[in-house]
Amino acid sequence: MSLIDSALVRLLPAVPKPVVQLFSSRYIAGATLAEAVDCVRGLNAGGAMATVDVLGEEIAREEEAWGITQTYRDVFAAIDTAALDSNVSVKLTGLGLDLSYEICRDNLLAVLEAARSYGNFVRIDMEDSSTTDDTLRLYRELREDGHDNLGVVLQARLRRTLDDVRSLADLRPSVRLCKGIYLEPSTVAFTDHEAVRANFLRSLDALLDAGCYVGVATHDEWLIGESLARIAQHGLRSLEYELQMLLGVREERRDELVAAGHRLRVYVPFGEHWYSYSLRRLQENPAMAGTIARATAGRVLRLSR
Ligand SMILES: Cc1cc2nc3c(=O)[nH]c(=O)nc-3n(C[C@H](O)[C@H](O)[C@H](O)COP(=O)(O)OP(=O)(O)OC[C@H]3O[C@@H](n4cnc5c(N)ncnc54)[C@H](O)[C@@H]3O)c2cc1C
Repeated sequence: MSLIDSALVRLLPAVPKPVVQLFSSRYIAGATLAEAVDCVRGLNAGGAMATVDVLGEEIAREEEAWGITQTYRDVFAAIDTAALDSNVSVKLTGLGLDLSYEICRDNLLAVLEAARSYGNFVRIDMEDSSTTDDTLRLYRELREDGHDNLGVVLQARLRRTLDDVRSLADLRPSVRLCKGIYLEPSTVAFTDHEAVRANFLRSLDALLDAGCYVGVATHDEWLIGESLARIAQHGLRSLEYELQMLLGVREERRDELVAAGHRLRVYVPFGEHWYSYSLRRLQENPAMAGTIARATAGRVLRLSR
């Protein structure tokens, strides 16, 4: 990222929302469940699976967390009615983790119950490192209570991740392994690109050695290649692992991987709380973020002349 781009990326929050929406629409299925269903139908037609995320990161009240929980029930019903190949991803803050562990647990149980009634599966996204302990604690509690239709996410960026793989191993968890999107201090996270990649592969090796089902979630070509090599070394067949990508990112490569016979799941976010998700995606893509910020800065400068 050039210095100019990184400076412009910091300006993104000042960009008018309609402009952000215009550029971020490729990363989001839409504001409504019907749009998410259409999006998943299209992905399924192209041979990809999906995981649907109800955007709701700015929860401040218990009723809002319950609202998200109810929306997940609707999502399972819609997946079933349309016979889609999709599970769901949930954020614990969306289910009320910042309000209380108990509220979040009750809401997650309601989502899990809905999933069970439709024979579906729930993956808990991993958020910033202040939530890791609670997330893994809740995951363990629910798995020990017999909720087998539940998976979790581990972030290669975090120094603790290899230890987390080892301490979860007795559960043979279904794990999405990703780099981790949250900017974390060097006390808890690797900040060097190569160190994150190395920890990704160490964690993947440990997960595969423990016999876990892994969703390899990266668009990093080098990591995709190294991960597939390890999967082949373990002799895994196509139903025994999956690749995962975000909606709107590296779509041509996605189609190639599907055509090569890999099961690939696309993360499909939808909902009214699209703004913070969009900012994160755009900030990851400096070329586009720079274009937007430049266009907006140009407009502001012209107006002030
Ligand atoms: C299915 C899925 C689920 C995820 N769930 C979580 C989660 O629960 N918790 C969490 O912290 N993180 C999650 N992430 C995000 C992840 O941690 C990374 O931040 C993100 O995937 C970028 O890292 P990368 O491995 O793709 O490598 P990068 O090195 O960041 O990207 C590799 C290449 O991919 C392309 N690319 C990446 N992002 C974009 C973009 N936004 N726009 C255009 N091109 C792009 C670029 O060509 C880039 O060079 C998830 C990612 C995926 C794919």
